Amino acid sequence: MRWFDTHCHLDRLPAGSDLAATLLRSRKVGVEKIVVPGVAGSPQSVAELSTFTGVSMAWGVHPDFINYLKAEEPPGKPWQAAGFEPVAVGECGLDRRSMLSIEEQEKVFIWQLELAAEYDLPAIIHLVGHYQRAFDLLKAMAKRPRCVMHSWSGSAEMAKRFAGLGAYISVSGGHLRRPEKLARLLAALPVSSLLLETDAPDMIPPFWSGEFNEPSALPLIGSAIAEVAGMPVEKLAEILYNNSIRLFGESRQNQHG
Ligand SMILES: [Zn+2]
Repeated sequence: MRWFDTHCHLDRLPAGSDLAATLLRSRKVGVEKIVVPGVAGSPQSVAELSTFTGVSMAWGVHPDFINYLKAEEPPGKPWQAAGFEPVAVGECGLDRRSMLSIEEQEKVFIWQLELAAEYDLPAIIHLVGHYQRAFDLLKAMAKRPRCVMHSWSGSAEMAKRFAGLGAYISVSGGHLRRPEKLARLLAALPVSSLLLETDAPDMIPPFWSGEFNEPSALPLIGSAIAEVAGMPVEKLAEILYNNSIRLFGESRQNQHG
């Protein structure tokens, strides 16, 4: 079985973590590909990450990190200076827990959605609350980017509406803490709309004994989700892997330098 971790903050593992060992453990259990989202622009330690096979990076500004941006971003690709070609824009979105106003968040969110559409990249979307608002924003776009709603926290009904716009809905180990809610979500969505992620080092799955989450937990998360979905794990793994490739692309890898 092969697995694709569509959202893993490899650049934000706890201090003292051995990145190479972490990746070796995950490859041993079949995690072949990992997308590292940008939180405050590029992932940290881009040069180091880019040396690992199967690791791709996104560029993006999380709603908590909007202050990172300059008042006026120059036109063009904001990731140019970072020296790598991202496979996606994000994570970007709206978060009701943010200290920043919804207007400020929305401005930066729309800017990133438009960047994704302009450069034909998928958008990795982070939403905590503001589901309807984000849905209306996306729906109104004349040129809408392909997108994934990462670690989905809304209702099954709302997920179905986003999937109706062509969005993928990504589930993580955090969903296993609320199996009934997960079952409703899985029942509402076609498996062709699903993706899988660890969101490591956060979203520790309930069965995980480690102090923090890591990509090698993905196959266990996938197995537990297959059980809730009532589907053979081999079948689910292959479908999710292919969905991920469809969104992020097969050949695009890091192009550092
Ligand atoms: Zn994230």
